[in-house]
Amino acid sequence: MIRGSTELVAIVGSPIAQVKSPDNFNTWFANNDRNLAMLPIDMQEASLQAFVGSLKGWRNLRGCVVTVPYKQVLAAHLDGLSDRATALGSVNVIRREPDGRLLGDNVDGAGFLGAARKHGFQPAGKRVLVIGCGGVGSAIAYALGEAGVAQVTLSDPSTPRAAALCELLGNTFANLEVATHYESLERFDLLVNASPVGMGDTGELPLPASLLETLQPRTLAADVVTSPEITPLLALARQRGCAIQTGAQMAFAQLGHLGAFMGVTPLEI
Ligand code: NAD
Repeated sequence: MIRGSTELVAIVGSPIAQVKSPDNFNTWFANNDRNLAMLPIDMQEASLQAFVGSLKGWRNLRGCVVTVPYKQVLAAHLDGLSDRATALGSVNVIRREPDGRLLGDNVDGAGFLGAARKHGFQPAGKRVLVIGCGGVGSAIAYALGEAGVAQVTLSDPSTPRAAALCELLGNTFANLEVATHYESLERFDLLVNASPVGMGDTGELPLPASLLETLQPRTLAADVVTSPEITPLLALARQRGCAIQTGAQMAFAQLGHLGAFMGVTPLEI
């Protein structure tokens, strides 16, 4: 029940009907007896500037989760950003301070890493392949660099995107080895598909079948795609004896990070 006294958080994107955060947050608020609610907002891009102005003045709104396609554009309109959001040039969560200032963070990578740790992945010294160097792939690679992996290999058909992420990681993490060339999957401790390949019913794999034949059972195979839950890549990895991490697990692991940044949940939920 939303009452006059209920404090709000929001999630903004376009389209918005597919997002799971309102279900997850509102269930948590109800189960934990909090007088809080999350509203989904499908905002057209032409109104984003006015939306930011409204957020600043919206006194009973604690914060706003940001999803596609506004993670980059909104980062440019806030009053302050975390170091990682500054480096990535994107936000997936905004907190409204009591004086109306809007602060942004990007917890995509923290959520991914939280889920991976639950699978027993200890980042220090590990070798990782990140497939897809867009918004989410960049956030994941950045979080892995922060957490002390030894090596990140990047794969993306867009050479400029891979090069930009390579440069960011190289400039930020002095001890991290960054590569863009690989001929086998044998040496990777973690492989993550951070591209949309495999979404829907396409049956597509993000890597050639011949390369996937080199995937070893000791490698944790992860996918960011949430639908289907078991993507073609995860199905193949499971057949090869790998532990798998789903996009839904990553999304769920983000809830505490998003909620804690907005001040409405603890970090661990
Ligand atoms: P994006 O458009 O910013 O980046 C996608 C990147 O994948 C692009 O750089 C593109 O060139 C690359 N790509 C396409 N085909 C490829 C291939 N075969 N091999 C390697 N790279 C390839 O998109 P994004 O915002 O990073 O989102 C990526 C996916 O992550 C989407 O499917 C989105 O739904 C999902 N996502 C999941 C979560 C979660 O919590 N599970 C959170 C956010 C986004």
